[in-house]
Amino acid sequence: MAGIYLHIPFCRRKCAYCDFVSFACGSVPEAYVDALIREIELVSRGGDYPAAFDTVFFGGGTPSLLSGEQMQRIMAALDAHFDIRAETERSMEVNPGTATPEKLMAYRAAGINRLSIGLQSTHDALLSNIGRIHTFAQFLDTLKSARNAGFTNINVDLMHGLPTQTLKQYKDSLKTICDLGVQHVSAYSLILEEGTPLYSSVHSGEVSLPDEDLVADMQDASIDDLEERGYHRYEISNFAQEGFACRHNLNYWHNGEYLGLGLAAHAAVRQKRWTRFANVGTLEEYERLLSRGKRPLAETLRLNPRDEMFECVMLGLRLTQGVDRAAFLARFGLDVVEAYPSAMERLCARGWALESEAFLALNRKGLDLQNEALSFFMR
Ligand code: SF4
Repeated sequence: MAGIYLHIPFCRRKCAYCDFVSFACGSVPEAYVDALIREIELVSRGGDYPAAFDTVFFGGGTPSLLSGEQMQRIMAALDAHFDIRAETERSMEVNPGTATPEKLMAYRAAGINRLSIGLQSTHDALLSNIGRIHTFAQFLDTLKSARNAGFTNINVDLMHGLPTQTLKQYKDSLKTICDLGVQHVSAYSLILEEGTPLYSSVHSGEVSLPDEDLVADMQDASIDDLEERGYHRYEISNFAQEGFACRHNLNYWHNGEYLGLGLAAHAAVRQKRWTRFANVGTLEEYERLLSRGKRPLAETLRLNPRDEMFECVMLGLRLTQGVDRAAFLARFGLDVVEAYPSAMERLCARGWALESEAFLALNRKGLDLQNEALSFFMR
């Protein structure tokens, strides 16, 4: 299995907590779309990529700033230059307030078959606290238009740990979204990133965040309330109705191959060794290199087998199912449990390991303390 990620680094306005690579802009410049299409052509000529792809994902930034025609051009270029399987999951992130009914129709016509809508909260005051550009009513309009356009596989992103957010407000958001019958929910905790406006406001005392205990209660509510309503937790922060887990992200967590196209995008492919690529992070350089017919690579990193093995464990232990022991054995020639005897001992001593013949996983407590659990595997 292999995926293609395309980065669209533009947002109407920066959210107060965001440190992703994105720039404030009302639309996606044609020059960027042209550069992205040139990159698709160049990478396809290089030949150092998987033979066929099973998933395509437009992330950002705000991919729903693309016009229908721009999306159509990019999808046509992908289909012309890569072998993309007919049943491929083709997802895009959508920000409410940026996707008109006409655009959603055009995206569907261009082949997009899964949407991930960044709502974050159903409470307008909380949305405004974190600088989101939309209201809950605009989200409802987007959802309705998406369904009218024929989308039947929809994720909604929710966040907890927001300034002034109460447990009741968070549980209300979970309930409202489930009642709307979306197929997938991503429930993330706010991460306070240095250098963001929210970071400064919190550190100056102007804004305060919920304390650790309250955030932990919200995290528990995500798991309990979503599971109770039929959403299976398959990754630390991701919950899906039966058959609707995100295939693109599952490929990351299974440590599968993927291409990354666009500004600051990352890729991981099997060459002689497992190899990671990172594209340049400034727009000027990205467009300049492509206009000269050069790939916009900033970094190439070939992993040694030990690092590749750790990456596989680190990603696999994010999944509730855990690391597939047979796949690990086939890839590295040894069982994951035998590869890390002292880590296993420490996991078992804490009571965090779920070990079966087929998988090695963390239980709920271990997933809550995943960073500590992973530190046992570092050596
Ligand atoms: S919409 Fe997403 S990528 Fe854009 S500024 Fe907000 S959080 Fe960042």
